[in-house]
Amino acid sequence: MTEPTVPSRARSGPAASPASSRDPRPGVTGVEPTELAALLAEMGEPAFRARQVGDAVWRSEAASWDAVTTLGLPLRAGLAERLQFDTVTETDLRLADDDATEKALHRLTDGRLVESVLMHYPARGERRERNTLCISSQAGCAVGCPFCATGELGFERDLDVAEIVDQVRHARRRLVSRGRHLTNLVFMGMGEPLLNLDAVIGAARVLTDADRFGLGARHLTISTSGVVPGIERLTALSPQWTLAVSLHAARDSLRDLLVPLNRRWPVRAVVAAAAGYAAATGRRVSYEYVMIDGLNDTPADVDALARLLAGSGSHVNCIPMNPVAHTPWQGSTPERIDAFAGRLRAAGLGVTIRRNRGQEVGAACGQLAAEKSAEPAAAAVARRRERLVATSVAALAGERSQDPAPPGLSAGSPGPVIARTAARAAARPIARPDRRPAAGRQPPGPPRRGSR
Ligand code: SAH
Ligand code: SF4
Repeated sequence: MTEPTVPSRARSGPAASPASSRDPRPGVTGVEPTELAALLAEMGEPAFRARQVGDAVWRSEAASWDAVTTLGLPLRAGLAERLQFDTVTETDLRLADDDATEKALHRLTDGRLVESVLMHYPARGERRERNTLCISSQAGCAVGCPFCATGELGFERDLDVAEIVDQVRHARRRLVSRGRHLTNLVFMGMGEPLLNLDAVIGAARVLTDADRFGLGARHLTISTSGVVPGIERLTALSPQWTLAVSLHAARDSLRDLLVPLNRRWPVRAVVAAAAGYAAATGRRVSYEYVMIDGLNDTPADVDALARLLAGSGSHVNCIPMNPVAHTPWQGSTPERIDAFAGRLRAAGLGVTIRRNRGQEVGAACGQLAAEKSAEPAAAAVARRRERLVATSVAALAGERSQDPAPPGLSAGSPGPVIARTAARAAARPIARPDRRPAAGRQPPGPPRRGSR
């Protein structure tokens, strides 16, 4: 279990390797305290050992069982036979923004690569220092948003509770060595958290449990591209976690293109589910809006968005798109973002413009892992761009996509998590989606500045 002692800007880092089999031992951070106590009792240990192991996992900087010197050698060996101390086998770091952004590429035991990004915001005026970690919930993602490097990778597999939590422990060790602590945690790395909801809820509970990681519940944010049954399941739990919804378009025709899940759960159903979460938890929902030049940043888009969210008390984060190789699009210019944000504010919505962090190290979600996977052939990239240009012209003309929802999400073949969440949600009515194209919108034409 290695972690580089010297972070580098241009290390080659863990290369993608064919996935091997996963370590069959559970990760200790995914084992419930009662189960750990039972395991130690079975091993003939006294009851106080559970507290000692918990302290080693949650309060010490040990990175392996070997380093847990509070336990005797035979017990360490016994525990190592049964449980992994750390499910991340290797981490490569890249620094950016004068070292304020730290991108980590983690290798899991089967060779899969996932990313986390640690962002440091120094204290300013009344505002205290913040250290925010963005973590992954899946290797790859099935949703396939075309502006997202993870979407381009496709779905590889779900992470388990320990694999999610151990990304946080790695970041914590680095923070502690600099006298800092984690203040905020966001599920905005690789993967769609609500398509791996059991593990995400499990990890969120571990991370906000005062006896384990101990983060304040209100400092944890779960971001979703709009899995309605998942939002409803979270609503039923009524936690104090913040829900972020990746909207990116207010009209179904454009959102069908940008967030393919929209073909299954249209935008109004997503916003209605998010409003249900806000009502049940008292927590303001925030909407993420990745801004793509000439595609979703026009006055007509902002007006549609303002109408959609009117009176919801929600907040919109405008995020310039980080460029990714396989799209013909570019991020909106600062002037267009300012104009967009200004119109939203005038309509009474809270708005933040989020500065992109770590562009020089590929901080857009999934970019490092994509770099390590086989480079797509130039011809395939060109075909993909052409297809996106053609479909965006249709979307801007208000045409709904005829393509089905991403595989595994279509009504006929729900994935196991979707099937479970949908069944749980079935008892409650879902708002009827409005499938009419927005009236009176003039199609502004294809993206203006792509490399078509
Ligand atoms: N799947 C979830 C959470 C992970 S993606 C979701 O979509 O919400 C986290 C955020 O990164 C999303 O808001 C997504 O839209 C954004 N993102 C993905 N690719 C990006 C890019 N190229 N530039 C800027 N933001 C991007
Ligand atoms: Fe998946 Fe989120 Fe990327 Fe869309 S933006 S492909 S949902 S990770």
